[in-house]
Amino acid sequence: QDNHNLTINRLAAVGEISAGIAHEIRNPLTAVKGFLQLMAQDYPSEHWDVVLSELDQAIGTVQELLSVAKPNLDSERPRYFSLCAEVENLLSLFHKEMYRVSVEKRFYNTDIKMYGKRNQIKKAMFNLLKNAFEAINGTGTISIEHFRSGDSLVLKIRDSGVGIPEDKLQLLGTPFFSMKDTGTGLGLSQVYSTFYQHGGDIKVNSSPEGTEFTISMPIETKNALDSLEAQLVFTEGQD
Ligand code: ADP
Ligand code: MG
Repeated sequence: QDNHNLTINRLAAVGEISAGIAHEIRNPLTAVKGFLQLMAQDYPSEHWDVVLSELDQAIGTVQELLSVAKPNLDSERPRYFSLCAEVENLLSLFHKEMYRVSVEKRFYNTDIKMYGKRNQIKKAMFNLLKNAFEAINGTGTISIEHFRSGDSLVLKIRDSGVGIPEDKLQLLGTPFFSMKDTGTGLGLSQVYSTFYQHGGDIKVNSSPEGTEFTISMPIETKNALDSLEAQLVFTEGQD
């Protein structure tokens, strides 16, 4: 519970500041992109592809920051969907890694549908899977378990990767915390904010042999979504 509040507070504090900044940066970047696209038509060059894709990456990062900072402004409507079907679909995005990482799936209670913001949850699971693949240097294993426990759905993602040092565990979920050279440190912020918003819980176990994230989410999140919407109010207003 302490950790939960700590993460919520951190998300809120960083959210206040970064939402404003992200907003100020995203709009000019988007305008610049529009003009560059026009220039690209008038002045053909082999460099435009690089310029535009770098710009897209910057806009993407700012967009990501904005959605982590202001999840309550996300207008996605909750619906019923199959969590394990989404995981199954997401895995196909990692097919290029399958030659080095073997994925073991143990999916039980696959007929259960949960209620929540599907795209947001999908993105969170993508972020967790991406971290798992990135944690494995060379060959290794990722095992994913899906089952029902009481009124909750549980998803365990275990990797045989490098692990997380104990003194860094409490920093997980803090926006911009990253131990990677090219990481944004926003992936887990999105994960924590999404699962907390759905009234779920996240536990992390890690050792130098690997890491296990255990996510449990109420199958019926309707009430949780309503009450957490209130808890996660960051900067109100313009977007
Ligand atoms: P990023 O991936 O951009 O660095 P994240 O928020 O996704 O940012 O993760 C923050 C940090 O947490 C990572 O840089 C990494 O050090 C650590 N981490 C997250 N997941 C794992 C994992 N499965 N195994 C090892 N380290 C992890
Ligand atoms: Mg990540």
